[in-house]
Amino acid sequence: MSVLEVKNLNLGFVCDCGFRQALWDISFSLDCGKILALVGESGCGKTISAMSILQLLPKRASLTSGEILYENKNLINMGNKELQNIRGKKIALIPQDPMTSLNPLFTVGEQLLEVIYIHQGLKGKDAYRKAVEAFEEVQIPCAEERLKAYPHEFSGGMKQRAIIAMALACNAEILIADEPTTALDVTIQAQIMDLMHKIKKERNTAILLITHDLALVREHADSVCVMYAGRIVEKAPADEFFANPKHPYSVALLNSLPSNRGKSLETICGQPPSIQQDISGCRFHPRCKSVMDICVKEIPQQYKISKCHYSACFLNK
Ligand code: SF4
Repeated sequence: MSVLEVKNLNLGFVCDCGFRQALWDISFSLDCGKILALVGESGCGKTISAMSILQLLPKRASLTSGEILYENKNLINMGNKELQNIRGKKIALIPQDPMTSLNPLFTVGEQLLEVIYIHQGLKGKDAYRKAVEAFEEVQIPCAEERLKAYPHEFSGGMKQRAIIAMALACNAEILIADEPTTALDVTIQAQIMDLMHKIKKERNTAILLITHDLALVREHADSVCVMYAGRIVEKAPADEFFANPKHPYSVALLNSLPSNRGKSLETICGQPPSIQQDISGCRFHPRCKSVMDICVKEIPQQYKISKCHYSACFLNK
């Protein structure tokens, strides 16, 4: 069941050179109890797409069209007060660097209790019990003791668990995890991803996982959206995507993974375009090995491969 739907989102930035479009027709939906991975190179628009959901955009960004539907309401038209009730409470963010979300001057427990008070209206013993439960659920040992600690006394993995505990204490229906394991070592990465799995299974939470790490996606995601230069170029169930990628950019990304044993690693020539660059037709055409005349002149639509698999490439028309 879909809990949130992003429909035809278009967004741009006001730059020194005028208004520049950064996202084109972004559409995806989040399902209860599933992980959707938004994948792509740095600067492709993954994070800004996710921040649009929370309406936490930089001042110079502007959403020019589209809808973000949650509980039959468009978040884009929502007032600040209503949004405050959704952010953190219904839709929670797990950032790349948890240190930026925790205030170093207060204990982790004080910060968790504040969140519980604001979003659940609980005080005193009830709030404290909820905080301990949340810490225990994310497997922070000696929960009562650790609530008294300051953020600098937590390791990176523990900080990330504390942030996840805040989302759980508010019973968030949707978690937006923005490169949640990038700052962590491999063992802790696996523990945090196992925790996400546990949450999606036990609480039926929808998770939007933003990452550039295809190995992580292969192991953990239920479905995948690949982004390139502000557009979604391929959408598919994860199994199907890894077995049968269709878009030349997806194929090139997968061929550049070190896990392709026996095959030499491929690189994608050139660089992704900057926001200032105007590119006609398919935005991948300057780097695509299969480029055709039509690719330079026309924009490919999302062509259907199978029930839930789409590719924005003329080869799949
Ligand atoms: Fe390559 Fe053309 Fe497909 Fe774009 S539309 S990915 S340029 S083949």
